[in-house]
Amino acid sequence: MLRFYNTLTGRVGEFQPLEPGKVRLYTCGPTVYDYAHIGNFRTFVFQDILRRWLRARGFEVFQVMNITDVDDRTIENALAAGVSLGEYTEKYTQSFLQDMELLSLEQPEKMVRATEHIRDMVELIERLEAKGYAYRSDGSVYFSIRKFASYGRLSKIDLAGIQAGARVDVQEYDKSDPRDFALWKAAKPGEPFWETPFGKGRPGWHIECSAMAMKYLGESFDIHTGGVDLMFPHHENEIAQSEAATGKPFVRTWLHAEHLLVEGERMAKSKGNYYTLRDLLAKGYKPSAIRYLLASVPRRKQLNFTLDGLHQAAQSVERLRNFRLRLRTEKFPAGDSAALAQRIEQAGAAFDAALDDDLNTAEALAAVFDLVRDLNTAMDRGEFPQGNSAATDALLARYDRIFAVLTDVVIPEPVVGKLSVGQPTVIVSLSDEEVEKLLAERRAARARRDFARADEIRQELAGRGIIVEDTKDGVRWKRL
Ligand code: AMP
Ligand code: ZN
Repeated sequence: MLRFYNTLTGRVGEFQPLEPGKVRLYTCGPTVYDYAHIGNFRTFVFQDILRRWLRARGFEVFQVMNITDVDDRTIENALAAGVSLGEYTEKYTQSFLQDMELLSLEQPEKMVRATEHIRDMVELIERLEAKGYAYRSDGSVYFSIRKFASYGRLSKIDLAGIQAGARVDVQEYDKSDPRDFALWKAAKPGEPFWETPFGKGRPGWHIECSAMAMKYLGESFDIHTGGVDLMFPHHENEIAQSEAATGKPFVRTWLHAEHLLVEGERMAKSKGNYYTLRDLLAKGYKPSAIRYLLASVPRRKQLNFTLDGLHQAAQSVERLRNFRLRLRTEKFPAGDSAALAQRIEQAGAAFDAALDDDLNTAEALAAVFDLVRDLNTAMDRGEFPQGNSAATDALLARYDRIFAVLTDVVIPEPVVGKLSVGQPTVIVSLSDEEVEKLLAERRAARARRDFARADEIRQELAGRGIIVEDTKDGVRWKRL
């Protein structure tokens, strides 16, 4: 039974989607004003483990992730750089996508840019106006928190104590209540704007997510995720806007990831205590070690980042890879051990139970490492028979469908070119013929409905920098 701790209820409960077998999931994506740091990626890795586990549990997942390509910070930085907002954010959008590949983050079913959904946002604001939840002031539109009785339910915040929260524009003196937040912001001189019924301006950050989430997932959907810093005010405001407009519950389950810390403080751009993925690759660390470290601590626990911790994560990954290599290459005595078969099965059950328990990744890893230790010992003593190797290999594959660290992703040339220190491993890519051969094998796997193998081939290709796309006209591939 899959259980999650739901921020909204404050309890652990069994997870059941609204529509049997299908999970609709919204993930707050990056604000593309700069390179994402690995604190951001802690949250994105958690979300990736979530979608992988939901799928492993037989759910079909439809995940939407937004790209915040218009907000205060993107506008400010684009102005400072003297380029258009679009040109500015495109660079960081592309680098985010590249980082996703490097960290083996699966592509959500839909990735959407805020600037391509302005119409949807305007319509939602108009609905809020029509229902009396929004008011205009000096070319901006605000949400009246007073009118939404259950405001604060998610973050359990005391409404009386709210001052201007994080990311709230303190220049907004024209609100009738200081706690109200902007749905639409009047353009300041020199800023990019859209022409709308409210005048020239741009959306507030919160309305972006409400509009895009409801457009693709419906007015009520299953899971919404983000880092804990987004709980208030961002997610609280998303709930207020969406539920005020529709009169329906917006999201059933809210899952938040705790922060990645550096010396006890949240890793953040503003604190200057951050590493980007590129920074760490330049120091010679592999993406798999970074992914492993970020995934190794359950999402509700803070994770203190150190290079030493990263080094240990790299060693853990190596231990698993060495074990798999040993399993696949060593000659074991013939036969089959019932006791070992049971031990392997028990490890698999413990792995599943851990992830079912609110994605307890630490316990899941412990189950795998305990098994690896026992089997290594058995191998050393010559007591590991060949007959148990297929089940062991299958368990490692099951592990890696979630943790995805056993194969390193190629570090593409454009990134390598920017690296200044160290010599990251660059895997030689495949020839066209080799790619075609693997694709033929994938076709054959799909034809016999062996989707696990087909997926494995796609991942293997991705690991060599080959991106496979299934289009309605057939399979297409390109090099990263
Ligand atoms: P942003 O690009 O600032 O919108 O943030 C993208 C995601 O990273 C959000 O879900 C944030 O909550 C999350 N985030 C920001 N800083 C950290 C951190 N230090 N640790 C974990 N997640 C973070
Ligand atoms: Zn959001």
